Amino acid sequence: MQREMYSFVCPNCGSALLNLLDYESLMVLRADLGLFTMACPSCAAKTSMLRPIPPLLRDDVGTAAAEIHAGMGRKLDA
Ligand SMILES: [Zn+2]
Repeated sequence: MQREMYSFVCPNCGSALLNLLDYESLMVLRADLGLFTMACPSCAAKTSMLRPIPPLLRDDVGTAAAEIHAGMGRKLDA
């Protein structure tokens, strides 16, 4: 199960598992690097972390970035 690669323990309460794929917001810094923000289902704290964007999210990210004309480190339309 690929999801498990992106799980980590909440740094605030130390009990709940958060998953990058359940991000609340994602700020794309580069085509393959983003600042993920997740809300903990247990303590409700928000955690932000800089992580490589999982390959399975890259299509979504590319589409979203193109829609808002975000810089992705390369030209999207010629
Ligand atoms: Zn927590």
